[in-house]
Amino acid sequence: MSTHNMSPESLMMSHGYKPELSQGAVKCPIFQTSTFEYKTAEEGKAFFEIAYGLREKGPQEELGLIYSRINNPNLEILENRLCLWDRADDCAVFESGMSAISTVLLEFLKPGDLLVHGNPLYGGTDHFINHFLPKIGIHTLDVHPDESEENIIKMISESGKGDKLAMIFLETPANPTNAIVDIESYKRISDHFSNKEKQVLLTVDNTYMGPLWQHPLQFGADIVLYSATKYIGGHSDLIAGAVLSTAELMVRVKTLRTFLGNMLSPNSAWLLLRSLETLKVRMDQQTKNAQEIAQFLSQHPKVEKVYYLGLLKEGTKEFTIYKKQCEAPGAMISFDIKGGEKEAFLFMNSLKLFKIAVSLGSTESLVQHPITMTHAGVDPEHRTQMGITDKLIRLSIGIENAKDIIWDIEQALA
Ligand SMILES: *Cc1c(COP(=O)(O)O)cnc(C)c1O
Repeated sequence: MSTHNMSPESLMMSHGYKPELSQGAVKCPIFQTSTFEYKTAEEGKAFFEIAYGLREKGPQEELGLIYSRINNPNLEILENRLCLWDRADDCAVFESGMSAISTVLLEFLKPGDLLVHGNPLYGGTDHFINHFLPKIGIHTLDVHPDESEENIIKMISESGKGDKLAMIFLETPANPTNAIVDIESYKRISDHFSNKEKQVLLTVDNTYMGPLWQHPLQFGADIVLYSATKYIGGHSDLIAGAVLSTAELMVRVKTLRTFLGNMLSPNSAWLLLRSLETLKVRMDQQTKNAQEIAQFLSQHPKVEKVYYLGLLKEGTKEFTIYKKQCEAPGAMISFDIKGGEKEAFLFMNSLKLFKIAVSLGSTESLVQHPITMTHAGVDPEHRTQMGITDKLIRLSIGIENAKDIIWDIEQALA
């Protein structure tokens, strides 16, 4: 028999699910149960020995189903399928993107450690890093996307806490400006501060581009995480998160998840299994639409500047990184409208097809005003540095007909 490696999109309907274990049902049922029956007391004992790390797994042994805070078939099948896109060893799904992010930060940082992070970050992540982590004695240092590798190494060394550096946390492209950084360069920085006793972990929030258009683990990231609320869910009907990494690091993430109890519910996991079946067709359509819309915006007299990966100029540093790191320009477009808040609000209120709402990656197109909405809580000085001003508008492009989206933008700008 010839071997053939299936693409992830071909496996999204079957991978990890055994119909014979569910009365032959073609689709995975919802395992809406809190607990699982053991065949014998001995079997229950064996499952707990593995779950609590009291002994190593036997060669053919699998961790049995125990209790839905520890494991559940819907969560496990979803995790196995998500691993395919990022070619990760293992995955853990969470009840939100923020719980995925906060669990990773809490597991791998301890009082006295230094966390270096990119800028800008998702508003919630920025808040957790700058308002919560300092309260438990974790030091933070932010770096601007334009900073050179040498300068970042110098900044970390001069902070006097280089030996305490435990993690670098990035978003690329960043929300909402689409600022892009070179993951391989940050990998070299984390290696620079790593030694025999300690590996500085590089974590990338890939919500904007994943899991299709960018694969940070292939560029040296140790951990990749998602708000699965966005493209992965893709229908604006659930909140979820995911973390993917090596088997070794995922044991730690899953153990903390067990004790924080912030795993995804079987019902949301089941909805995400349905979402994954159309992930590729949705994201293909979204990025195709976005390229047309960005082009249209860039030529409109009432638009000052468009921030979109597909419009980066050849020969720039950003373009080189984009070509190396991304497989498509994505479907998130930000732009500066001529004027300020008044003009931005007038434009938004005049849209007919777009909904004024935060979030992104869904089938419907959404519009929001970062400075007064998603990034309202970010330090004003930081915000200005990052280019988040009154005139900046963010669009998340959906799967509608591009002609209709352009019609809507055109009439609202008019
Ligand atoms: C939405 C979002 C998050 C937070 O995810 P939730 O699912 O809302 O908790 C984190 N990072 C990015 C880039 C996001 O867009």
